[in-house]
Amino acid sequence: MSDLMEMTVRGAHELLKQSWISARELVEEALKRIERSEDRVRALLTITAEQALASADSIDRRRSEGETLGPLAGIPIVLKDNLCTSGVKTSAGSRILYNFVPPYDATAVSRLRNAGAISLGKANMDEFAMGSSTENSGFHTTRNPWDLDRVPGGSSGGSAAAVAARQALCALGSDTGGSIRQPAALCGVVGMKPTYGRVSRYGLIAYASSLDQIGPIGKTVDDCALLLQAIAGYDPLDSTCAEVPVPDYGAGRCSVSGLRIGVPREYFGTGVQPDVAGLVRAAVSTLGDLGAIIEECSLPSTEFALAAYYIIAPAEASSNLARFDGVKYGLRTSQISGHIGLTEQTRDEGFGAEAKQRIMVGTYALTAGYYDAYYKRAQQARTLIRQDFDRAFERFDVLVTPTSPTPAFRIGENADPIAMKLADICTIPINLAGLPAISVPCGYVNGLPVGLQIVGRPFEEPTILAAAACYEQATDWRRVPPVAAQQ
Ligand code: GLN
Repeated sequence: MSDLMEMTVRGAHELLKQSWISARELVEEALKRIERSEDRVRALLTITAEQALASADSIDRRRSEGETLGPLAGIPIVLKDNLCTSGVKTSAGSRILYNFVPPYDATAVSRLRNAGAISLGKANMDEFAMGSSTENSGFHTTRNPWDLDRVPGGSSGGSAAAVAARQALCALGSDTGGSIRQPAALCGVVGMKPTYGRVSRYGLIAYASSLDQIGPIGKTVDDCALLLQAIAGYDPLDSTCAEVPVPDYGAGRCSVSGLRIGVPREYFGTGVQPDVAGLVRAAVSTLGDLGAIIEECSLPSTEFALAAYYIIAPAEASSNLARFDGVKYGLRTSQISGHIGLTEQTRDEGFGAEAKQRIMVGTYALTAGYYDAYYKRAQQARTLIRQDFDRAFERFDVLVTPTSPTPAFRIGENADPIAMKLADICTIPINLAGLPAISVPCGYVNGLPVGLQIVGRPFEEPTILAAAACYEQATDWRRVPPVAAQQ
């Protein structure tokens, strides 16, 4: 059998349906690949080999009995560790949840399971999804499969690295300011952040609730479309989940003919490496050759995005993280009797430096005396950013930009917190506006992958998927990183 982990989700599922391969073969191969590369890549926090094999056997049994299988039957997947998984440790990359075993599945997870997908385990991430490199994980740093001295991006770095290293066919991540798209770009795979409200956040450990969104990571655009199909749609358990009908995302529609594409000049300015900008501009002209109508445009409020995000996200985080008090679940380090001492000591020992800093910034921004100066102004800036996009989408169907201003940086290189935050400059405005966006590989700089970001109107995932698929089919950027090359 040729390389099973090189298959697309659709390809693997078809072979399985026709009994050319079994779910057990797929899962065994994935586990073998994990064993072979994991000591170098370190993408995962928990591996659930036994459960995965048991699920595979049950799918194979049902298949042999002629049962109709779900659309993702037998597909090995890894889940970011901030997605609650019933009976399986879910730490969100934090020591404060090192022993937390949820009694329920996140809605996205149960929908995947119902579709037949098989979880191999939980992927590493920056603590509570705060970061762009996985260096903020409370456990270890994941390495980029293209260069083990570099970061895989973050915060869904483990998910993206696992897909790139061919440890799983696909993954789920979460994206608050770029955490699916940026690691996908840095690892040379495809990642998509759906419209805010498209996918239920029930069971996603909250970072910044008005920005968080769960989404797929895969080797191809179609893989992401199939995963999105399974997880999208209304859920009464999340009050922000939209009651918008779910269209058909898959089926290889691929067309950009007549598509009006805007290229916002602010996304090619300072901080964006010239090599990266060059590859993205080349991708734009490829889209033009394929029939799209290209025009430059401006999103003038982009300059406020980082500052607004780094008030709003910490403000929401400071509130969301208040629940980790050493009483209800997770770590409890203190022998001290009395609630305050116990909570203080547990939080001091359980949270890492980045989480603590954001809790403090967020709490400060929300205090009565400063609320108007910080939080309110940040929300006003958010409105301006959204209005920029509204105006642009009167003229354009999609916008294209780089996903990340640079390729993967070296582990430890972005120790300066401002430099690290600049890594999100192209992705954060999209979360502030609640829009869908996808990152697809568009070339390599010194052997490191670069991503093209395609942004759409709310709930127009089909448009960005079609444009991304079209670009993907016209180019040849899907490559296997050295760590995953089969001998
Ligand atoms: N890097 C950004 C942050 O640290 C975004 C992370 C994310 O999308 N979860 O907040």
